[in-house]
Order: sequence, then structure tokens, then C-alpha cells
Amino acid sequence: MTIRVAIIGAGPAGFYTAEALTEADAEIDLIEYLPAPYGLIRAGVAPDHQTTKKIQKSYAKTALKPAVRYYGNVKVGRDVSLDELREIYDAVVLAIGAPTDNPARLPGADKRGVYGSAAFVGWYNAHPDFRNLDPDLDTSAVAVVGVGNVAVDVARVLVKTPAEMATADLPDYAAERIQAAPIQDVYMFGRRGPVDAKFTNVELREMGRLENCVPIVDPAQLPDAVEGDYEDRDLRVREKNLATLKEFSERRREEKPKGVHFVFYASPVEILGGEKVEGLRLERTRVEEGRAVGTGEFFEVACGAIVSAIGYRSTPIEGAPFDEKWGIVPNEDGRVEDGLYAVGWIKRGPTGTIATNKPDGKLAAEQILADGKEGKPGRASLEKLLAARGVRPVSFEEWQKIEAIEEANATPPSPRRKFATVEDMLAQLERAEAARETGCPGSARA
Ligand code: NAP
Repeated sequence: MTIRVAIIGAGPAGFYTAEALTEADAEIDLIEYLPAPYGLIRAGVAPDHQTTKKIQKSYAKTALKPAVRYYGNVKVGRDVSLDELREIYDAVVLAIGAPTDNPARLPGADKRGVYGSAAFVGWYNAHPDFRNLDPDLDTSAVAVVGVGNVAVDVARVLVKTPAEMATADLPDYAAERIQAAPIQDVYMFGRRGPVDAKFTNVELREMGRLENCVPIVDPAQLPDAVEGDYEDRDLRVREKNLATLKEFSERRREEKPKGVHFVFYASPVEILGGEKVEGLRLERTRVEEGRAVGTGEFFEVACGAIVSAIGYRSTPIEGAPFDEKWGIVPNEDGRVEDGLYAVGWIKRGPTGTIATNKPDGKLAAEQILADGKEGKPGRASLEKLLAARGVRPVSFEEWQKIEAIEEANATPPSPRRKFATVEDMLAQLERAEAARETGCPGSARA
């Protein structure tokens, strides 16, 4: 008998779960609130990291399998509730990720010019929720809080030249704002030491090869060797990072017009300025038993914008439990409640690479099949319910039409010119529909 599964969220975790379920006798519906699929691949991975984005081709193959149906532009909590989905599907999988920022709980965090990385990255990746962020980058110095891969992405996108971004899919509005910005220095602040930084080595080394920008590190902050008890793989990353930072410490600010400064042992304590950011006050730290401890010594850096890249956070979904402390749906290895499962960042928190989601999807599929609940109506009921509510789902074939227009609108070597609003995406379908009726081709630019 066919098992009917709804997966909420069409990012990597959702697609890996769908793919794993296609091995079984299952009817799999991927429900996504945006017309566009792919989650963080489209709107999180940096616009200049197109190689990473290529994985979406394999997700498209999954979406086009006969057992899978994509329902874009359907928001759970607005168009259909989780309780309703649990009523009509044998199993429901939460793959909703971690779409918001860990809040920067600092005095002054409400000043103009302070942005969370989820919002900032979403803005330069044409995510409809952040299209209107309108960041004020009219400043010579930007501070990025955090030394993870997102912080590195943000710093790099801010300092790359237009030529270096030519192969990216940075939307025009973001390219114009960033390239017009008089940014000369980006300061990245780590509250712990260089060997505690979360960035991975490929991403760090990229900072040493930028056309117009030099990485700067104070050699006095670098230990001779990595000390501590780390697993082999972890130790190797830290050793490589330390070696790279040592190379960076020999570079000189005068080499290039722009500099990215890696500053460690620095914990932000206050955002300075009036209505708008004018600087960041930090406390120097030392690391004790892996934790940053304040030394009572403070310093300030002048900057006109701050991006807080201190990690993402999931948001509760009505009808499912939520652990406020850890920012996840409480679960036992993915099982949440009877017929309800979690995968990806809503299950484990916002860490790991795209591939880390693959085992999650496989495990959820195994659990769903092992739990073996069958007999609910699934897709037919969803479609009836959406039609009765006047909801206009976007199918995967329709998404591919929108995507083809994005690709046709691009200026090579950029792969696509993204539509950054839901209205623009849906308008393409209406135009295509009108053109089909009148026999005239039609498309639009963002
Ligand atoms: P992350 O790796 O957890 O890094 C967060 C950074 O913020 C850390 O340096 C952390 O310092 C710091 N931080 C946290 N709270 C802070 C506070 N209150 N004050 C000051 N600093 C604070 O998170 P992420 O950069 O958002 O990345 C999320 C995941 O996506 C990671 O697994 C990352 O590797 C992955 N990702 C990968 C790529 C890639 O492979 N190219 C690109 C982007 C993202 P502590 O260590 O001291 O807590």
C-alpha cells in the first residue's frame, strides 16, 4: 500500500527526504511557502559560490520523479495548518530549516545599520522576505560579528570586485548598492581565538586570493600550534586554518585598496552611535576551558554598518512542539510525535554542510516506512483543500518556466537574474498563460 507523505520545506533536507522516499511505495508532496524551491541553496549559499549551487540539478531530478509533487507558494500556517496536514497525510516531515537570526543582544542593536546575517544574506540572494532590507552601506568600514562560514561569505561579498562577481547571481539592486559603497575595511570579530574559529579552510583561503582586498591578521594573536583535545578531522581543520592565518599575518594592508581584518579574542559589548551605527565597542577576552572570558579591557572600532553573523535560528511552527532554549523541534533522532518527523536544521540546529542533511533524509524515510502508518488520503485532499481556499500552488514544471526566464534574463557569465518577489515570480506564469492564450511569447525582467 502507498504511504502518503507531506514534507514541509523544499530545501536540501526536504529534498533528501523526498529522494530517499522515492525508493519506496510512497506518494511524496513537497510543500514550500515560496514559489521557488531549494531553500538555502538558492537563498543562503553565497551568490559567488555557484559550484555549490549545482546540487539543485539533482534536486530537480527528484522533484520530477513520478511519485513526487511540488506545491510551491503554499504556506503552512497560512494556507493550510500543520494539524490539517497531519489529518490528511500518513506522515508529515518538518524540513523548515532555521530562517531567522540569533538575535544580537547588545545595547544599541536597534540602531540603523545593524543587520542579522540571515536578513543580509537573504537580501543579497534575492530572497523575497529580505528584498526590501535596504541596508545602509554608505560607510568606509563594516564590522562582521562572528567567524563562521557565513561571516566569511558576507565579508567576501562586500569586498569582491564587479569582475570577481561576474559569474555570481547577485541581484542588480544588491550589486549596485555594494559596488557603490565606499567600503575599505571589513572587521571580522571572533569572541574566542583563531583555532576556535568555525570557518572551514577552503573558505578561509579564498580570502587570500581576492583581487582588490588583502586579509590582515595580527601575528601576536596566533599561537605556535593548535593545542587541545580534538578529533582528528577537527584538528586538521584547525591546523590548516592556523597555517592559513599565519600566511595572512605576513600580508600588509597597503598591498590592496581594501582589507578584511580577522580580529580574535574580541567580544562585542555595545553598538555605538546615535540613530545610526557609528562604531562597535568590544571587550578583549581570553579563552578558558573553551569559553571566552572578558579581561576588563575594552576597545572601539569605528564602523557605519554591522552584520551580526552569530548563527541562525529556527522559528516555531503552530501545531508542533518547540524547544526555545535550543531553537529546534524536540525530537528523538528525528521522530517528533506520532506521524511527525523532523530533518535538517529544525531537527539538529543550524550546523553542518549541505551534505549533512542527506543522512537525515535517509533516516526519516526509514522511520516513516518502519512506522508503517498507511491509509490516509494525502494529495487528493490537499488539492481539494487548497482549491477551496483559492490558493494557487506553483507546480515544479511551472517553477521551471520561471527559472528558464531567470536564466534567459541573465547577463552571461552570470547564470540567472533572479526574481526577488513572489509577485514577480507569479507574474511570469500569468504572462506565459496569457501568451499561450493569445499565441504571443512574453517574458519579463526583474
Ligand atoms: P557558525 O559556524 O555556528 O558560526 C557562528 C559564529 O558566531 C562563531 O564564530 C561563534 O563563536 C559566533 N558567535 C555566536 N554567538 C556569538 C555571540 N553572542 N557573540 C559573538 N560571537 C558569537 O554559524 P554560521 O556561520 O551561521 O554557519 C551556519 C552553518 O552553515 C555552519 O555549519 C557553516 O559551516 C555552514 N555554512 C557553510 C558554508 C560553506 O561550506 N561554504 C557557507 C555558509 C555556511 P563561538 O564559536 O565562540 O560560539
